[in-house]
Amino acid sequence: MNCFMCKGTLEKKKVNYIVDLGETIIIIKGVPAKVCEQCGEQYFDDKTSENIEAIVNQLKRLPMEVSIVNYTEEVA
Ligand SMILES: [Zn+2]
Repeated sequence: MNCFMCKGTLEKKKVNYIVDLGETIIIIKGVPAKVCEQCGEQYFDDKTSENIEAIVNQLKRLPMEVSIVNYTEEVA
């Protein structure tokens, strides 16, 4: 698999995923991703995207300006 943007090589990495919801900013640390060596574009597989969404849905209910969590695959 190569980068859709520039056809560069993708490298497996752990990244910090930042979601800016306006009133709340959520930072998920250590998310497994494929990152383009050339342009830095990040790709997440389906399972990871689902987990990210579940984590974001949980955290955005909290009345916090910034939430920082470690990525986990066990989202209730
Ligand atoms: Zn690229």
